[in-house]
Parts: sequence; C-alpha cells; structure tokens
Amino acid sequence: MKRIAVLTSGGDAPGMNATLRAVVRMGIHRGHRIFAFYNGFKGLVENESAEMYNRSVGDILTRGGTIIGTARYPEFKDPELIKRAARTFKLLEMDGLIVIGGDGSFRGALALEELGVPVVGLPGTIDNDCNGTDNAIGFDTAVETVLDCIKKLRDTASSHQRTIIIEVMGRHSGWIALKAGLAGGAEAILVPEMPFELEDLCHRLESGIARGKKHSLVVLAEGVMSAGELSVMMKDKMGFAANTVVLGYVQRGGSPTANDIILGSKLGARAVDEIAAGVSGVMVGEMKGELVTTPLQKVIDERKIIDPTLYHLAMDLVH
Ligand code: ADP
Repeated sequence: MKRIAVLTSGGDAPGMNATLRAVVRMGIHRGHRIFAFYNGFKGLVENESAEMYNRSVGDILTRGGTIIGTARYPEFKDPELIKRAARTFKLLEMDGLIVIGGDGSFRGALALEELGVPVVGLPGTIDNDCNGTDNAIGFDTAVETVLDCIKKLRDTASSHQRTIIIEVMGRHSGWIALKAGLAGGAEAILVPEMPFELEDLCHRLESGIARGKKHSLVVLAEGVMSAGELSVMMKDKMGFAANTVVLGYVQRGGSPTANDIILGSKLGARAVDEIAAGVSGVMVGEMKGELVTTPLQKVIDERKIIDPTLYHLAMDLVH
C-alpha cells in the first residue's frame, strides 16, 4: 500500500478531470491511498491537500477544467519553495507524486525529484508540445473546439466574401493551428515551426479570390504574430483589410472528447502502477497505440514540433 499524491499544474486542459478520476479510482482499486494537492505546486508548498475517495471524483469524467485547481505559479522556481514543497511531501509520508501538466510543470517535477520526491508526469496540455506522446490530454478537444469555430466563421466569410484571420493558441507549437486548419480547410495555416512569407500568403489568398473563392480563412498560431499585426501587413500588401478573430480561452474549456477521456483514463491508471513500482522521473504517454514512458528530462529538452508532412498535405489540398 502506497500513499500517492496527485496535482494538476499549468494551463488547464479538458480531460484533466478524467485523468484525476483514473488516478484516484485505479489507486484505490490497487489498495493505495490517494491525496490531491490543490492549485498545482502551490498546494504542495502551502500544504493544501485532501485525501481522495471514489466518490470524490464522481461525476467529473466529462467535465472540462480540473476540480483540484491549477495555477501559474512562477514563484516555484525559487529553491526555498521547492524545498518547502519537498518537506510537505515527506511530512505527509507520501511515496510518490503524479504531476499532470505541460513541460513547465515537468521542470517543477524534476526539481522536486532532485530533493528525493519520486515523480511521474502525465501530459495534460492543449498545445500538444510534449515529446513522448502522440497526443497530450486536452489537445483533441481543443482541435474540435477550434474546428467548430472555423466552421461557424466560414459561414460568415462565405456570405460576405471576406478574409478572416483566426488566431489560435500555440506560442511555440503549431499543432492546434495545423490540425484544426487542415480539418477546417483553411486557405492558409501559419505556425511557428514553418517560415512565414508574407509574399506567399498574399499570393495564395489572391489567387484563390481570382479563381472565385468566396472566402479565405487564415489560421494563425499566436506564436507567429498576432492576428492584428498580420491584418495590417496584409492590408499594406493586398489593399484590403482582413477581419480578425482571437479565439483565446474558449480553446481550453469544454467537455473533453471521448478520445481525451479515454487517453486520460489510460495514462492516469498507468501512472499509479509506475509510482507503485518505484519508477520516477518519467512521463507516461501513448505512442502508436502503446503506453510508453519517456524520461522527463528528454520530454523537456526536445520540444515536439508539428508533423511537416501533415503541414504540406494541408497546403497542397487548398487550391
Ligand atoms: P505547463 O506545465 O502547461 O507548461 P507552465 O509553463 O505555466 O505550464 O508551468 C506550470 C508551473 O510549473 C509553473 O507555474 C511553475 O509552478 C512550475 N514550473 C515551471 N517551470 C519551472 C522551473 N523551471 N522550476 C520549477 N518549477 C517550474
């Protein structure tokens, strides 16, 4: 019997609740005791925790967000706070910590591991920028949400023969822009991983209009530039203004898709077994249908970039 702690950290992602439920229920099923720390690493520093029971995670499977809260808590880079968190962990006689979050959260997890806290990470981030997993928990839902918005904006773009720039999340990663843009038939997809050429973009849009296209949708990852900046550049070049829509936080919310619920359930259950087996310093992910572990250091060091084949496919299909 182990005492296993769990927390959610960084930006919230749909499916975090399903993952938490799997950690709690599989943990109890295996005979362990599970404790949640509230609001990411802040809860560990301030010793805000609660033991979780099967009923604590009832009715959360299809809910977005995270019932145990999350936090952007940059103070946690302070070695004193990391020490205090490790002290809480030891005081409560925990055997391991499961951290559900993105690469920032894994840095925090590794800092704790250096002080003797066994940690296992689970990729929970809509950006899908974690190596060691094909999809992060929350990404599939975010793509569906953005696709839904694209479909709605396309109706207006077509009716008014407009060009609309849709700015989506992704400071370093173009995964959301790429997948939603491909699925939504965007005329152009701009991602941080690919060079941006204003000339090419304008040519692509102008030739579409010349061929009688009624609408032009540009899906822009926020890491390239803002929709406003791009609109000004396009106006200078093409002589007309594009409308801009910044999707923002709607991309994080909502009920998770079946794919995210199932992924979170699988990864959450496996994380319990990894901790119980004494494994530490890894992230559990799913690659090509198999559950795999990857050292957290590797996940952090090699940020996952978009699949260029998929990008070129998207570009080749809109003529
Ligand atoms: P994500 O986990 O989604 O990438 P952040 O980058 O905001 O989100 O990181 C989440 C949290 O992880 C931060 O608010 C902070 O508490 C912790 N964290 C991030 N980087 C470090 C670091 N270098 N050392 C310790 N903790 C960190």
